[in-house]
Amino acid sequence: MAITIHIPTPLRPFLDNQDTVTVDGEGAVGEVLRQLAAAHDDLGKHLFGADGALRNFVNVYVNEEDIRYQDGENTAVKSGDTISIVPSIAGGSGQASLSPAELARYSRHILIPDVGVPGQERLKASSALLIGAGGLGSPLALYLAAAGIGRIGIVEFDTIDETNLQRQILYGTSQVGQSKLQRATDRLRDLNPAITIEPVEEPLTSANALELFKNYDVVADGTDNFPTRYLVNDACVLTGKPNVYGSIFRFEGQISVFHHQGGPCYRCLYSEPPPPGLVPSCAEGGVLGVLPGVVGALQANEVIKVLLGIGDVAAGRLVIYDALKLNFRQLKLRRNPNCVVCGETPTVTELIDYEQFCGMPAFEGSGGGQAAAANGDGDGGIREIDVFELQARRERGDNFQLIDVREPWEADINQIDGAELIPLGELPDRLDELDQSASYVVHCKMGGRSATAVAQMQEAGFRDVVNLEGGINAWVDEIDPDQQSY
Ligand SMILES: [Zn+2]
Repeated sequence: MAITIHIPTPLRPFLDNQDTVTVDGEGAVGEVLRQLAAAHDDLGKHLFGADGALRNFVNVYVNEEDIRYQDGENTAVKSGDTISIVPSIAGGSGQASLSPAELARYSRHILIPDVGVPGQERLKASSALLIGAGGLGSPLALYLAAAGIGRIGIVEFDTIDETNLQRQILYGTSQVGQSKLQRATDRLRDLNPAITIEPVEEPLTSANALELFKNYDVVADGTDNFPTRYLVNDACVLTGKPNVYGSIFRFEGQISVFHHQGGPCYRCLYSEPPPPGLVPSCAEGGVLGVLPGVVGALQANEVIKVLLGIGDVAAGRLVIYDALKLNFRQLKLRRNPNCVVCGETPTVTELIDYEQFCGMPAFEGSGGGQAAAANGDGDGGIREIDVFELQARRERGDNFQLIDVREPWEADINQIDGAELIPLGELPDRLDELDQSASYVVHCKMGGRSATAVAQMQEAGFRDVVNLEGGINAWVDEIDPDQQSY
């Protein structure tokens, strides 16, 4: 057995582009690194300052532990240990001193031996980027701001909707209709005026993600749609940032930290997204309001652990929380050497079109702020019309039947005049009520369930069936804004 040293990307050119090297021997970590530097031209000046000490923007871990919280350069390493060299916070010194007011504010943190004044200073010098200020983003942002992370970026461009208030605890009833980002920024600045909030009021896209991610130490994904999830993952791998991931559905949550110190990324777990329509979003499938609170708080905890270098970060494992049973299960995740983005020979070396890759728009999931985009010409041979075309057909008096495949409680909130309600679950048994030679337009809330219904009807022999793109949500937005939406 030898000592394994993980080399960060910026230093690999000095080591024949190796990502790990192994050395024999044991002793103090500082000595082991000096021997490594002596054997490779130019490496030394990147690791050690003129005074001979490790440069303060170079963090060194022995196994999972930051040596600054052990014996510094004298921390012992032995055969079988792993040394990780982690270049510190971009542009920062890694430490920022605390004012008396800050010492008082964070006193309950500072009392914890694992944090102390150095840990709190480190949080102040750190930065985190939150994608979305919705269900997951609310607790994430609140706890990270309260904890004193020095710089918090938030990407969000949605407005506050009444249906958000069941779980998005950053907002109040009097703020419905207002900008989430502006209200979140106000709330967080009030919560902790000692930190910097950096609002980014635009959707995260392949065009802006890399520039944005570069400026932060860690990224936390608070969105809940596949295009954004793959975009966040790939941008984190390409910029070398840890990706603190959370997802929620009904009563179940998942948490992991991807691409952390050589650990697996989201694509190692799921190289490709499920086919469109297979996995419903929270807006379609529902979510218990407390669930994003629990999962978002766990994400905040992982962000703090990553920044402080303490504890066992949820890298290389997927933690599954079942809110009904109140149990946590863990699955081991492994880095896939053939991973298309973080593997040995990656084929994804720049950001791609994630909406096309996932076959779906990055629409609003749990309030993650990725708004609806046009869905093109339907997927899998299903024809679609938009709400303007539906309106035109109605005005012309075209002969067609409108079918609503939502549940009765949804039809109690809003409806399109003349629609016949046949919930999707009843459709297969009720197809014989319908004339196969007639023309149909099928709608649901957002277009997902109705696409399934159109496919079922086509399969059963109906010839002229089209899906209403965007569902009744789009109808209310564009044609009939006096109706309640949900
Ligand atoms: Zn990977």
